[in-house]
Amino acid sequence: MNFEALGLHPSIVKAVTDAGYTQPTPVQEQAVPAGIGGRDLLVSSQTGSGKTAAFMLPALHKLASAEQAPMGRTAAQEAQSARSRGERVRFRPAQPKMLVLTPTRELALQVTTATEKYGANIRRVRAVSILGGMPYPKQMQLLAKNPEILVATPGRLIDHMESGKIDFSQLEMLVLDEADRMLDMGFIEDIEKIVAATPESRQTMLFSATLDGVVGNMARRITKDPLVIQI
Ligand code: AMP
Repeated sequence: MNFEALGLHPSIVKAVTDAGYTQPTPVQEQAVPAGIGGRDLLVSSQTGSGKTAAFMLPALHKLASAEQAPMGRTAAQEAQSARSRGERVRFRPAQPKMLVLTPTRELALQVTTATEKYGANIRRVRAVSILGGMPYPKQMQLLAKNPEILVATPGRLIDHMESGKIDFSQLEMLVLDEADRMLDMGFIEDIEKIVAATPESRQTMLFSATLDGVVGNMARRITKDPLVIQI
């Protein structure tokens, strides 16, 4: 099995080949075709299994396949032309297509770096991390670029959501990475709030060391007819 056989867009096959990957890991082999097909996923796998690519490659595939469609202008571009017409600039919230929630800043940054690597050949796909501890003005600047992909820790994301900086009405894919750790860290209410702000029609992927107990309950509540993958 190689990456082409998983049905991935050629620009992504090239990116993973350039990264030195010769074949998909077991979790990628199962998750990528199902993810491309639009299926919700519940995946029990460990760090080091290649799980980041398992959720990011299908997401990037969709963004690459939709690339030909005319894209909306970014909030920053619109603000610029409003200013040049002498109009007052109204703040437009970011409207991401994909959201990845992670328990820690370190993991969020790793996911963002991996996304840049896997998406290196896709024009106009930007991934931005929204993290506790990062200065707000910097994050506002990043959100004003209207990135397609947000990678966030739950607490800080809630702050931006509640102050109207992010609108999830266009969200197509939601990923909970290391969901068991997020619950251990007490993020359950934040996660519930974030999930409730996203469209019912979204595709949801949940990754966790275990799918038992509390995390299993939540997983089943937020997914529809998920494919369960146990590695
Ligand atoms: P992850 O489980 O996503 O944290 O990935 C663990 C490590 O495996 C990272 O350093 C990835 O760059 C690497 N990796 C992911 N998929 C593959 C693959 N198919 N072949 C070789 N290395 C990979």
